[in-house]
Amino acid sequence: MLEHRPVPQPQGDDDPWHTGAACRRDEAGLFFAPSKEPTAARLSREEQAKQVCARCPVLLECREHALAQPEPYGVWGGLTAAERRVVLARRRRRDTELREAARVPARRRIAG
Ligand code: SF4
Repeated sequence: MLEHRPVPQPQGDDDPWHTGAACRRDEAGLFFAPSKEPTAARLSREEQAKQVCARCPVLLECREHALAQPEPYGVWGGLTAAERRVVLARRRRRDTELREAARVPARRRIAG
């Protein structure tokens, strides 16, 4: 069974961003889905979690942590797991395009 915790555990002394988190451990039920959660309940819960994230001073750090792990479940940095998958797919596509552009000789790029 997953340990539900909206605030990540410390990764080491050099990673203290979570100490500024707006979410509390007793709010874990807001950030992680119970099993067999109906869609309407999930959407409502995720919206409430996002409202907590919206006032969180470490939103960007939390989001990047969740994208880098990647965290497969829960709301992190104001994004659901599905939304993080979209962000990661876009980043992969962008990186691929940048790598491809770097391989194309400058002459071809100018010619179109
Ligand atoms: S962004 Fe959201 S999940 Fe992340 S630490 Fe802040 S309140 Fe918690």
